[in-house]
Amino acid sequence: MKTCLVVDDSKVIRKVARHILETLHFNVEEACDGREALTRCTAAAPDVVLLDWNMPVMSGMEFLRALGTSGVSRRPKVVFCTTESGVAHIRAAIDAGADEYVMKPFDRETLQSKLSLVGMA
Ligand SMILES: [Mg+2]
Repeated sequence: MKTCLVVDDSKVIRKVARHILETLHFNVEEACDGREALTRCTAAAPDVVLLDWNMPVMSGMEFLRALGTSGVSRRPKVVFCTTESGVAHIRAAIDAGADEYVMKPFDRETLQSKLSLVGMA
């Protein structure tokens, strides 16, 4: 069973994502901002991170940069979630180390296809 860390400051989004991921047979963990996510990844890296972009304390972009320099030995795949479809925005995330992106709001089918693209579903 693969582990997915859901990182989002919205409790509702975390709940929705958890439900979908559990139907896809993932073990699900949650973090409410980038800093908590970084702490979890340092302690025990998940297989994949579903990463919100806009969060207090530490944003998705800041998390990606911190993860890159954190020395985490087994780097998780990262799918970032965004409400912005701009090419420049998506490119910035990919450049920062994201593997894929998914538009919010996402459904089960969309999330599964993105996880499949990064080899996780
Ligand atoms: Mg947010």
